[in-house]
Amino acid sequence: MTFRVGVIGGGQLARMMVPPAIELGIDIKVLAESEGMSAAIAATGVGDYTDRDTVLAFAETVDVVTFDHEHVPQAVLRALVDAGVPVHPGPDALQFAQDKLRMRERLGELGIPMPDWAAVSTVEQLDDFIAEHGGSAVVKTARGGYDGKGVRVVTAAAQVEEWFLALDEDGRGGALLAEELVDFRRELAQLVARRPSGAVTLWPVVESVQQNGVCAEVFAPAPRSAGRVAEMAARIGTTIAEELGVTGVLAVELFETTDERILVNELAMRPHNTGHWTIDGSTTSQFEQHLRAVLDLPFGATGHRAPWSTMINILGGPADGDLDGPAAAALADQPTAKLHLYGKEPRAGRKIGHVTVSGDDLDEVVFSARAAAAFFQN
Ligand code: ADP
Repeated sequence: MTFRVGVIGGGQLARMMVPPAIELGIDIKVLAESEGMSAAIAATGVGDYTDRDTVLAFAETVDVVTFDHEHVPQAVLRALVDAGVPVHPGPDALQFAQDKLRMRERLGELGIPMPDWAAVSTVEQLDDFIAEHGGSAVVKTARGGYDGKGVRVVTAAAQVEEWFLALDEDGRGGALLAEELVDFRRELAQLVARRPSGAVTLWPVVESVQQNGVCAEVFAPAPRSAGRVAEMAARIGTTIAEELGVTGVLAVELFETTDERILVNELAMRPHNTGHWTIDGSTTSQFEQHLRAVLDLPFGATGHRAPWSTMINILGGPADGDLDGPAAAALADQPTAKLHLYGKEPRAGRKIGHVTVSGDDLDEVVFSARAAAAFFQN
């Protein structure tokens, strides 16, 4: 194939699109934010993704543009569309992953189950919301949050006073998102892919465990999810992909509540951390499927290769920065573990890689994956 895919953003998601691109003979180019990023292996340029001319020049070298992150401004996305560049996902869909308030409004119109929420632009409005919701709320900045940054559990509006001040300085009349503090049993994620011509495919719903707002572990499929939970997650994922016109991979983060409801937390319109297990555990990985989707090629099968897969993130890493020693030790100790390192310098809490183990017994695969990842934690 001589298709040319351009990826804006040079992080690990772009990096992990490279192996399937090579296998399928797709020419992949990456516009990286700086030298030496995770996807430097395929980077064909370094440039500012907020600069219209830089992005338009990059787009001229490829057949389709897609993303490693959701931060390309709407004006730049619209300029690409106006220039006739196929952009997947397109700006009309991507706005709902860029702005959590818009996402809540749109999903509300679609009747998708969500936590109770409100747009609050003053301290008084937030205090009212807190009073109406049992004395607490989760407050989120509408834009720019990731990995739990821009998310705070509060019992009084004063605890996010600086966010209100920042809104005032912004001068755009913005608001914060207030949500009920959901009493959830666990977090789930539904991964979906959709082609521009309409076909949709899904992987089994997974369970994800967050630590300090960052994904730490994923169990695939989600234990005890056969039947109704899987059905509800699949229905929600399909509806969102279709109604929002998402093209490429979509991840829908979900809460399973203690009173048996499935609520949407948030959306990501790109390959997602909760789908990394698919590289080793599914017939078709999310990265290959994303490439197929943005090129409008037929989808690969999404069944799992083994009954269970567990993915553990490697967060932080050894203090001395040496990854070779822990990597060799992990490979020696856990031969069934598939180790993925992103070519990033270890820093406290930073995602520098992950481990996946697949097999017949859930306890065994969890143990092996944790054991392999533990070599990096000292
Ligand atoms: P980010 O965009 O930074 O990933 P999220 O909106 O996914 O932020 O929130 C991060 C984490 O905070 C979630 O994974 C969940 O554990 C917790 N959280 C978010 N919203 C709520 C809520 N309404 N109720 C309870 N916990 C929440």
